[in-house]
Amino acid sequence: MQIIWAEQALTGSGWQRHLRIEIADDGRISSLTPDSRPQGTRLGIALPAPANLHSHAFQRAMAGLAEQRSPQGQDSFWSWRALMYRFLELLDPDDVEAITAYAQLEMLKAGFAAVGEFHYLHHAPGGQHYDNPAEMAGRIMAASRQTGIGLCLLPVLYMQGGCDGREPSPKQRRFLCDFNDYSRILSVTEKASAGMPEDFSIGVAPHSLRAVTPCILDEIPALTSGNPIHIHIAEQQAEVSEVSAALGARPVEWLLENQPVDEAWCLVHATHMTGAETRALAASGAVAGLCPITEANLGDGIFPAHAFLAAGGRFGLGTDSNIQIDLAGEMRMLEYSQRLGRQERNVVAQQGCSCGATLLASACRGGAQALGRNSGAIAVGKLADIVEIDLQHPDFEGLEGDRLIDSWIFARTCNKVRNLWSGGRHVIMDGQHAQEADITNKAGRVFRRLRSAL
Ligand SMILES: [Zn+2]
Repeated sequence: MQIIWAEQALTGSGWQRHLRIEIADDGRISSLTPDSRPQGTRLGIALPAPANLHSHAFQRAMAGLAEQRSPQGQDSFWSWRALMYRFLELLDPDDVEAITAYAQLEMLKAGFAAVGEFHYLHHAPGGQHYDNPAEMAGRIMAASRQTGIGLCLLPVLYMQGGCDGREPSPKQRRFLCDFNDYSRILSVTEKASAGMPEDFSIGVAPHSLRAVTPCILDEIPALTSGNPIHIHIAEQQAEVSEVSAALGARPVEWLLENQPVDEAWCLVHATHMTGAETRALAASGAVAGLCPITEANLGDGIFPAHAFLAAGGRFGLGTDSNIQIDLAGEMRMLEYSQRLGRQERNVVAQQGCSCGATLLASACRGGAQALGRNSGAIAVGKLADIVEIDLQHPDFEGLEGDRLIDSWIFARTCNKVRNLWSGGRHVIMDGQHAQEADITNKAGRVFRRLRSAL
């Protein structure tokens, strides 16, 4: 059992002062007692730590490498993807484990307690299958055991090069699977996860409507008994056109009409939607998986958050390409994209409410739902996913409650996490991870080698 005591804490039933938080050995919060005397690990503030619902960890090593305008001057998501495909040809399992551990370390230090890893790099360069179908999945699990982050592993099914069933390009061979390969990867991964912590889970992830046929998509929900189902959708206009031409409907429209989309689903991006699609997605109860920094970096477009929230939609946040791993930055970018698009301020909040507190609460609820994780609030019975941000800065002086969260998101430039618990594991202590030097050194060596080989 662990005891935390927080000067102030944002709990499932609002702000509490002098809160004693008891964490049982199973990682769950077993009691909350306000107005207690100081004891245990003392915090200035305790906030719920959200899950990062969408990551491709290996892409962390190419962050910042695609920021030069090409000689042709036609830079887009698709030209970025060409570099990403070149890059992933260079990665071996040791590289993937080192980069993943580093990305997860950064996630913890940014305030995320868990991650949904959308994992599609299954095979060796050239597409040869490893003897162990879960070789790469095993490396992601190993990284999470080292960092202590809560993991929902989402092995990805990627079958074809486009909606018309075209042959995949040679660069896509490392992630290609038919349905049988995919079922095998899932079952071997399941077995290999025997030693993982109790909060580990496995979901399924049909990559996109471009990469999975409608017939096979029908088989996917049966592979999982209520576990998360994640899919990339409507990130790019070109994708909307391709899906509309092939399937006769826009991506979100088609998915909602043809699949039993419900609370188990997470639609990643969902950037390009009509008003009717936006309302229908909100009504489905699925989570919109927003990745605002990546979407801005890739020039995807602006998610219609105002209309989606007005219709009661749920969203969570992901770091996707991991160009920059920054929880406060994701929340800020989401709100700022809305302000720029609508020429208004405080768009995501309801009247009279704090924008920052709304963003954090939504990210916590949506992230927990999307990963099927028993978390999302500091409440008895929930996993102890708790973060303390460092309040020792003039930006926070004289502030309390929601205003501290606003200041953290909108005013601080360096968002320092002092302590973080993931499923009760105290992984960031006084700003440091116990294995930080080892993880950082290994990643640095891998980054250097990859960059010289590009
Ligand atoms: Zn993605």
